[in-house]
Amino acid sequence: MAAENLAVSRETFDNVILPVYAPAQFVPVKGKGSRVWDQQGKEYIDFSGGIAVTALGHCHPALVETLKSQGETLWHTSNVFTNEPALRLASKLIAATFAERVFFGNSGAEANEAAFKLARYYACKKHSPFKSKIIAFHNAFHGRTLFTVSVGGQPKYSDGFGPKPADIVHVPFNDLAAVKAVIDDHTCAIVVEPIQGEGGVMPATPEFMQGLRALCDQHNALLVLDEVQSGMGRSGKLFAYEHYGIKPDIITTAKALGGGFPVSAMLTTHEIASVMAPGVHGTTYGGNPLACAIAETALDIINTPEVLNGVDARREQFVSALQKINQQFDIFSEIRGRGLLLGAVLNAQHASKARDILNASAAEGLMVLTAGSDVIRFVPSLVIEPTDIAEGMARFARAIAKVLN
Ligand SMILES: *Cc1c(COP(=O)(O)O)cnc(C)c1O
Repeated sequence: MAAENLAVSRETFDNVILPVYAPAQFVPVKGKGSRVWDQQGKEYIDFSGGIAVTALGHCHPALVETLKSQGETLWHTSNVFTNEPALRLASKLIAATFAERVFFGNSGAEANEAAFKLARYYACKKHSPFKSKIIAFHNAFHGRTLFTVSVGGQPKYSDGFGPKPADIVHVPFNDLAAVKAVIDDHTCAIVVEPIQGEGGVMPATPEFMQGLRALCDQHNALLVLDEVQSGMGRSGKLFAYEHYGIKPDIITTAKALGGGFPVSAMLTTHEIASVMAPGVHGTTYGGNPLACAIAETALDIINTPEVLNGVDARREQFVSALQKINQQFDIFSEIRGRGLLLGAVLNAQHASKARDILNASAAEGLMVLTAGSDVIRFVPSLVIEPTDIAEGMARFARAIAKVLN
């Protein structure tokens, strides 16, 4: 029997939810592919992908099928017992990447927390308890636990919560000289997003990534890549590190991993994993059969030439539509990012209008995101229909016209 149907609306949010978000004024109730409908039946095109999560669109039939079949089979056993979906998903992630060992969590922050703890623990066990320095970057985003906001490079997210974990140094992104100036033999890890997402859709340059790899090797530090947003096909390769010709030591993935179902993973090598032992780290829900079965299906679909090769074609359609809009309105200084992690940067004349454009887009029936106050971010489904891109861009152009008038 269904739960009692209490009437709720956007207004209810202000009365019952911790005020850490400011959601748009409509409440989505249904999604199919890249279309979403709200309580009033108004239809939206979704260029936001649940913030780079619903990489196969809403309610993809194969994911729904797995959700139903695994949902009728086994949901949760705890880590006192292992399960088949987790073992299959780990095996497939290992086959598809540099990795040899996998740890499952439930969110990006949780995967990163595990990665940072592992980097510290490895250095402590293999080298010295004083080898604890973590080098990270301004504007980086790694999640909302106290450790992950502290490694993140946005003090507005970490100030006010008491003492922060120590020995974390922040330097400018894409600035190898700045890293050279602070790295030493007490450094246990460099933590970096191959494409900064929340920080403004900023890709790392190849020289920067390759330079970080070399510096880590020189100082026996681990290269930890946060691929929570850039991973699982978003960049046009399964993981963005593949664009750089480097081998990381640890990567984390979450957002698109479950296609909308909460699940995350930290991937590493056998050598690094070997310092861990039962009891050193853990999580109750991590690696549960329901989440892992759905992620396995998502990975099976995303890690195919059809989906991965389709990313760049869709990107081109986005970029050319945005360039056309820019010819008309002269509003962007740059279109940047990789694959379907796209940022349209507002020029100086229109700085700080990102949120207004997001709201105007919603009014026109289009869901977009911002990344800071000057960047409109597009992270749609990797299989979004070309007709949906075209219609969404027509709505986007109307929204911009309204904001500028
Ligand atoms: C979203 C994000 C996170 C945090 O993931 P949660 O699931 O919200 O904990 C961490 N790192 C990056 C790069 C992200 O984009």
